[in-house]
Amino acid sequence: METPPLPSPDRTPGGRPRVVIIGCGFGGLEAAQALAAAPVDIVVIDRTNHHLFQPLLYQVATAGLSAPAIAAPIRHVLRKQIAKGQLTVLMAEVTGIDTASSCVQMDGGEHLHYDHLIVAAGATHSYFGRDDWAKYAPGLKTLGDAFTIRRRVLTAFEQAERETDPVKRLPWLTFAVVGAGPTGVEMAGTMAEIAQQTLSAEFCRIDSREARIVLLEGAPRVLGTFSEDLSQRAKEQLEGLGAEVLPGARVTNITAFGIHYDLTEHQPDGTTQAVSHFLPTRTVIWAAGVAASPLGKALSKATGCELDRAGRVVVQPDLTIPHHPNIYVVGDLANARSYLDPAKPTPVPGVSPGAKQMGRKAAFNIIRRMKGLEPQAFRYFDYGSLATIGKRAAVAMVELPFTRKQVRFSGFVAWLFWLFVHVYFLIGFRNRLVVMMDWAWAYFTSQRHARVFPDPHALEPNKVLMRVDEAQPVPASAPPKVG
Ligand SMILES: Cc1cc2nc3c(=O)[nH]c(=O)nc-3n(C[C@H](O)[C@H](O)[C@H](O)COP(=O)(O)OP(=O)(O)OC[C@H]3O[C@@H](n4cnc5c(N)ncnc54)[C@H](O)[C@@H]3O)c2cc1C
Repeated sequence: METPPLPSPDRTPGGRPRVVIIGCGFGGLEAAQALAAAPVDIVVIDRTNHHLFQPLLYQVATAGLSAPAIAAPIRHVLRKQIAKGQLTVLMAEVTGIDTASSCVQMDGGEHLHYDHLIVAAGATHSYFGRDDWAKYAPGLKTLGDAFTIRRRVLTAFEQAERETDPVKRLPWLTFAVVGAGPTGVEMAGTMAEIAQQTLSAEFCRIDSREARIVLLEGAPRVLGTFSEDLSQRAKEQLEGLGAEVLPGARVTNITAFGIHYDLTEHQPDGTTQAVSHFLPTRTVIWAAGVAASPLGKALSKATGCELDRAGRVVVQPDLTIPHHPNIYVVGDLANARSYLDPAKPTPVPGVSPGAKQMGRKAAFNIIRRMKGLEPQAFRYFDYGSLATIGKRAAVAMVELPFTRKQVRFSGFVAWLFWLFVHVYFLIGFRNRLVVMMDWAWAYFTSQRHARVFPDPHALEPNKVLMRVDEAQPVPASAPPKVG
């Protein structure tokens, strides 16, 4: 077989327009696949070598699944388009976009020309201006994040087993999750199961069932995008699993030794007051804030396009940016509206179906433009929302097809539905099989098979993992109430 030539940094030699896609997450992958039959050359650039199914990332973080079950090499997923010489994959970080010369710039300094550009670089964590919290409270976005969280959670139980002083042991057995959106709820519920079931017979000095899993949420309720009744059901299910839920808790500081937060409390005279608390814990997980990829800022600098407060690019109805009909922004990086009802455009949520539908629409509009047709406005079809809390516990809001009527349900049926949907949307037959087998095993044994991690000292020498004989620190400010 003839080896296809590497993409030239200049125009495509064959004269076919080149579509460069930055990011091979949900939006980028869908766009690449939707262009398979189009007379274009495609270059997909991603800084990792894999497409990641983020909705199941928390399962890797909590040792329920191993990484290859939820991630697939980009080259393998797109192998058919590669084999027919249409598509090239480059593993590189895009560092800039030069719209004057229609080039993207990569981390090695190389430039690559584009005729059409789809920017699908997604989002990252936001610590609301407190980036210093990141080292104590890792977020969950990449496989690397999931490995870090898995290591820290399991290491905390190991440290608790080593610690002989019951007072010093307590922070090792306290786990805080900040943010009660779907990811925070899934993390807290699963960590409660790990403490209550998975580890309960495997330690001698500690009883893992005494571990506290505390879920802190600044808003008055968990799962704020769900209806109030489902939000209440989710809270009850979490508490049923043994997690503590603290709505209205505003985090004010995070250190290696714990988390400071203000809680609105009702006073005897009927007024409310924010009371400061300190929760001593060695393990904090950040599931609270999301910020757009820095490429949004780079694009705004290059083109003057508008960004919203989260750094997302405000796109036009056809998903392009103003004055650049060949540059599309899709997925979590886009602040897009749906024109299902053109008179009443509605915001598109930052979820995988939104990214996939936008990726497909960008590809479709590129093809229309090449045919000399007008591009179409984006229309988002919302099929509903799901969140799992633990074994046999989930909540679901689903739009019925055709009628657009919404049904809401929770508990075992919602959990089964959640399992089915996630297995269905996973990429690759093998991954589906592996996930189903792992879940069946976990369901009947309560075991989580992926509980191994590399030597923590080699990876993070004594930064956050303190030695067990280290003295407890004194909080910097006046001692707040211990929560
Ligand atoms: C933990 C978690 C759980 C979630 N659960 C759900 C859920 O249950 N249901 C749901 O619908 N949605 C869920 N989401 C949201 C969903 O995953 C996102 O909406 C979706 O991934 C957005 O797709 P995207 O293509 O915009 O970005 P992503 O899927 O994030 O892909 C972005 C890609 O761009 C690459 N990239 C980034 N910057 C660069 C660069 N400079 N150069 C090169 N490559 C770059 C990244 O490596 C990545 O592959 C979850 C998200 C997370 C983090």
